[in-house]
Amino acid sequence: EFISVANLGAALGVRLNVFLGELEELGFENITKDNILTGETAALVAQEYGFEPTVEMGEDEDLKPRPPPKDPSSLPLRPPVVTIMGHVDHGKTTLLDYLRKSSIVDQEHGGITQHIGAFSVKMSTGKQITFLDTPGHAAFLTMRQRGADVTDMVILVVAADDSVKPQTLEALKHARSSKVPIIVAINKVDKESANVNRVKSDLAAHGVEIEDYGGDVQVVCVSGKTGQGMDDLEENILLLAEMLDIRAEPDGMAEGWVLESSIKPIGRVATVLVKRGTLRAGDYIVAGTVHTKIRSLRNEAGVEVDEAPPGTAVEILGWKDPPDAGDMILQAPNEDKAKIATRYRQELKERTEAIQQQTQMEQAKRDKAAEEEAEKAAAKKDPEAEEEESTGGAKTVSFLIKGDVHGSVEAVCATVLEIGNNEVQPRILQSATGQINESDVEMAATSGSCIINFNNPVPGYIKRMASEAGVRILDHNIIYHLAEEVRDTMSELLAPNI
Ligand code: GDP
Repeated sequence: EFISVANLGAALGVRLNVFLGELEELGFENITKDNILTGETAALVAQEYGFEPTVEMGEDEDLKPRPPPKDPSSLPLRPPVVTIMGHVDHGKTTLLDYLRKSSIVDQEHGGITQHIGAFSVKMSTGKQITFLDTPGHAAFLTMRQRGADVTDMVILVVAADDSVKPQTLEALKHARSSKVPIIVAINKVDKESANVNRVKSDLAAHGVEIEDYGGDVQVVCVSGKTGQGMDDLEENILLLAEMLDIRAEPDGMAEGWVLESSIKPIGRVATVLVKRGTLRAGDYIVAGTVHTKIRSLRNEAGVEVDEAPPGTAVEILGWKDPPDAGDMILQAPNEDKAKIATRYRQELKERTEAIQQQTQMEQAKRDKAAEEEAEKAAAKKDPEAEEEESTGGAKTVSFLIKGDVHGSVEAVCATVLEIGNNEVQPRILQSATGQINESDVEMAATSGSCIINFNNPVPGYIKRMASEAGVRILDHNIIYHLAEEVRDTMSELLAPNI
């Protein structure tokens, strides 16, 4: 937990006399090579050199995914996991609804399908396809940002009467950057205004190597309304799955991802997509910093199932605390191991957050000082030039964002970042879940930021502390109202400078 300046310099690969000089610049006074730094201070210094802080703790206290299988080709095949993407109104929801209704699983049990984040369609041949049930790119991106490569392929939906549109291209970009293969579904071919050839040539013009142009991207003409071509689409998915040779171990400690997490009348539930191993009631699982013993598993028809093998998604009941969507699920051999792992992770998270917060606070202080310095210098040099500049470049208004759960923090960030014009731009200094605390207020005060609070109570003493420090808190639980106040705040703060 402690390190001497000399050793830290050596660890960072910086010559000692250079390192001492740089430490002085960072604000350490009369520092010598023999000074002893705490682990936390050392981490801060290491960050200055571009290192990410990691807190050393016992390795074997955590759970880790198993190493990849040595010989995957000997494993059984698992159902492919498919995500539907495309431009708004091109028919993603309609196609998903059609597929969901065609699911034999539901017909067998007579259950009513409900949205749990994914559903499986069983073909008459016994083969199965799992569809992620959240159309749109946000879900896909959120999962990817956390490193969850949940999907094996993307169905890119393009309306035959509208052709390639901005979100079509965006979906293509995401699929490409994550190296997920695509199948193009040209939808709405039942419409009179349908122009399949135009869609094909537009796609080709954007570098999609479709079959008709000699490439290997399959194109299927479908109608979510009449059902035309839907069997072909399913066959094409299975064909691509065969080529990708998607296999997984059905046994061993299970691994997967949380697709969704919510509160239902029956309690807290989370939909889990199993990637390896098989989950059963009574199993202990860890997700992020929470763990649970699985009470029961249910499929998308609300029917209780005994097990969830690889490539299937189930709703899991039994959570005391909800996991976050995008969290990795790992099975633990027993309750003790699950408890130790979550305690370890919680501690690690708190310590890492403390270090990060401290670093950000110091950075904010330095930014502010530099800004003031620059302002002073500019004012001294040429008052007219400064005026020009202030009407030229955009001003920034910075925000600290706190929200009740991960999903709402993300939504708030996205909303805030959408606001702004070429005169004033938002900047998010920090975002996190949880209530506003003292260091948030402190950080907002030193950096001149506003705090956004979403769907959390604000303790009275925090309100007082903020008002004393002149920190504004925008407190909302409706995104739309929040967006309005952010907009107002930004234009207000801008006003005196116009
Ligand atoms: P999303 O925004 O991509 O999820 O699109 P929707 O599934 O909500 O579809 C947008 C509109 O197109 C709705 O009014 C649908 O009824 C209509 N639509 C979707 N698929 C078809 C189709 O194959 N044929 C026709 N004629 N209309 C469709």
